[in-house]
Amino acid sequence: MNLDRFSQGLPDPQNAEVMAYCEGCGGEIYEGEDVYVVEGEILHAEWECLVQYIDPEVKTIEEALGVE
Ligand SMILES: [Zn+2]
Repeated sequence: MNLDRFSQGLPDPQNAEVMAYCEGCGGEIYEGEDVYVVEGEILHAEWECLVQYIDPEVKTIEEALGVE
């Protein structure tokens, strides 16, 4: 089994510097990336990260309004 190709890591730009870590997914954010800033916290500019950060309750509309 040849592991050499895995030692290169993820296909991120080789010279990209890690600027921050996403408060949503915990992943690295590289220079030049678009981000969301929510209440001063930095997230990838991705819906998934935003949802992970906010962690909203999922309810039906009836439950949310307190109606039957
Ligand atoms: Zn993220």
